Amino acid sequence: MEERHMDLRSMSYEELQEKLVREGEKPYRAGQLFSWLHKEHAASYEEMTNLSAALCERLAKNYPLCTLKTLAMQEAKDKTRKYLFRLPDGETVESVYMRYRFGVSVCVSSEVGCRMGCKFCASTIDGLTRKLSPAEMLEQVYAITRDTKEKVSHVVVMGMGEPLENLENVLRFIALLTDERGLNLSARNITVSTCGLVPEILALAEKKLQINLAISLHAPTQEQREQLMPVAKRYPLDMLMAACRDYYEATHRQLTFEYALVKGDNDSKEDALRLAALLGELNCMVNLIPVNPVKECGLSPTDKTDVLNFKKLLEKNRIHVTIRREMGREIDGACGQLRRRKA
Ligand code: SAH
Repeated sequence: MEERHMDLRSMSYEELQEKLVREGEKPYRAGQLFSWLHKEHAASYEEMTNLSAALCERLAKNYPLCTLKTLAMQEAKDKTRKYLFRLPDGETVESVYMRYRFGVSVCVSSEVGCRMGCKFCASTIDGLTRKLSPAEMLEQVYAITRDTKEKVSHVVVMGMGEPLENLENVLRFIALLTDERGLNLSARNITVSTCGLVPEILALAEKKLQINLAISLHAPTQEQREQLMPVAKRYPLDMLMAACRDYYEATHRQLTFEYALVKGDNDSKEDALRLAALLGELNCMVNLIPVNPVKECGLSPTDKTDVLNFKKLLEKNRIHVTIRREMGREIDGACGQLRRRKA
C-alpha cells in the first residue's frame, strides 16, 4: 500500500507525525491524534476535543476515518459474541469476541473471504474478494471494545482469510497493536494462524517477533493433508516442517499445531502415532479441534471418547496437547464457521 493512499489509522506514529508536519501542523499533534485513534478508539474526528475544529474538519475531509458498522451481533450462552461488520467499501467480515478467565480475546479476520480452499472451512466457499488493511483489522478490535467497554487483552488472527497472504498489512497491524502509545498489547498475547505458506513463514521468522505462530496441520501425512488442504500441494509437508524448525531456530517461540479431528478421516490410532513421530523433535504443542460443522462441507467431528483417546496417545509419546474449547458454535462463530455474508 502506498503511503499517500493509506488510512491514518494504518500509519505508524512516525508516519503520522511526518504527514502532519508536512501539512504545517506541530509535531505534538501526532501524539494527540495517535492517542485518539489507538487508545481512545475514536469513531469520528468530532470526538477529538483537544484538536481544533478547523483541523478536525480538514482531516475529516481529506482522510475519512476507517470505521466499521455493526450490521449484526449474535451472543451465545457462553457470552461469545459474533459480529458482522460492514467495511468502508460495503464488503463484510465477521469477528468474534470471547471472554476467558484470563481476559478478553478477539478473533480477527485478515481478508474478505479466502482462496485457500480447505475442505472443512466455510470462509473459503465463495473465494477471496480482497485483503484487509491494517486499519480494518484494528477496527475489528476497536469496534468490539467500543461495544463491550472491555479492554481486549488477546488477539488471534484466526478469522476469515489467510493472514500470511496479507503479511505486510498483518505486520503493521501487530506493530500498531503493540505500540505503547496505543492499545499496548504484549506480542505474546497475539496469535497468528497459517495454513502453511512456507516463504511467508520464513519471512516472518526473520522478524523475530514474540507472537505465537499456529500452523494448521490437520493431517500427519502428505497424502492425507493434500485431501483436506489444497495448499499442501504447493508446500508439501516436509517443506513445511523444515520451515517450522527454521522458525523455531530464529524465534525460540514454541509452535502450536492445530489439528481438526474429522471422524473416520484423520483420527485413527495410526494417525496419532504418525503425528507424534512427525512432531517428536520440535518444541511445540498440539491443539485438537473436533471439526465444527459446516453444512456445505459435510464432515463430522470425531466422537468425544475418540478425541480423548487421540489426546492420550499423543501424550504417551510426550507431545503436549490441549483440546480447544468450542466457543460460539451455536452461533456459527467457532473455527471455520465464519463466512462472507451479504450486507
Ligand atoms: N487461514 C488461517 C487462519 C484461519 S482459521 C489458517 O488456515 O490457519 C483458524 C483455524 O480454524 C485454522 O486452524 C483452520 O484450519 C481451522 N478450521 C477451519 N475450519 C474448521 C472447522 N470446520 N472446524 C475446526 N477448525 C476449523
